[in-house]
Amino acid sequence: MEAVILLVEDEKKLRDMVSTHLQQEGFIVAPAADGLEALRVWQEIKPDLMVLDLMLPKLSGWEVLKKIRQKDNTPVIVLTARAEEVDKLLGLELGADDYMTKPFSPRELSARIKAVLRRSHSVVQNTATNFYNLTLNPERMEAFVGDVMLQLTGTEFKILLLLAENPGQVFSRLHILERVFGDMYEGYERTIDTHISNLRHKIEATGLSEVGIKTVYGVGYKLVMGES
Ligand code: CA
Repeated sequence: MEAVILLVEDEKKLRDMVSTHLQQEGFIVAPAADGLEALRVWQEIKPDLMVLDLMLPKLSGWEVLKKIRQKDNTPVIVLTARAEEVDKLLGLELGADDYMTKPFSPRELSARIKAVLRRSHSVVQNTATNFYNLTLNPERMEAFVGDVMLQLTGTEFKILLLLAENPGQVFSRLHILERVFGDMYEGYERTIDTHISNLRHKIEATGLSEVGIKTVYGVGYKLVMGES
């Protein structure tokens, strides 16, 4: 997917030059020439990232940054002509993700944009699966009940993730085997019972759990709130 960049810069020559370069790099660029226009366009298109000059007519880049930070965390790269503004930026922690001092090369800017976008996307990919106070982070293979980390085997983790991604849905033993081991599984459907039993013990041992794995007699298992 192509990233949409809101480029806020009042100097037309610079804006056009940067805009052309970013388009050549495959970005979609929405330009804005002052602070008020920046806020209006930001609201309208919800860009993936904003490049924001600080010295702007009508509303300064500082004000723009403050206002959008009250609403969300759109990544922002600030452009500034003055070194003392950089000190202020770092000191006030107003929530810029990066900054560049003028003059800068458009190529450097586009490299920074890609780095910030990579960072913000990896945050999204880290998004955990939650069910009540059970939290699973697939990227790290970590599971928590409240803030207690469960010591799970890889198989236990995969089973719990399958159940937690589909709470309330009943999974047969065969279905769990297929989903967790793919076509490579060996052994019997009943081995799932052992894994489930271990999972229950580990979850209950925290003494904190709001969820449990319920046996649906003759069918399989599901994750539910409350009893196991
Ligand atoms: Ca300016």
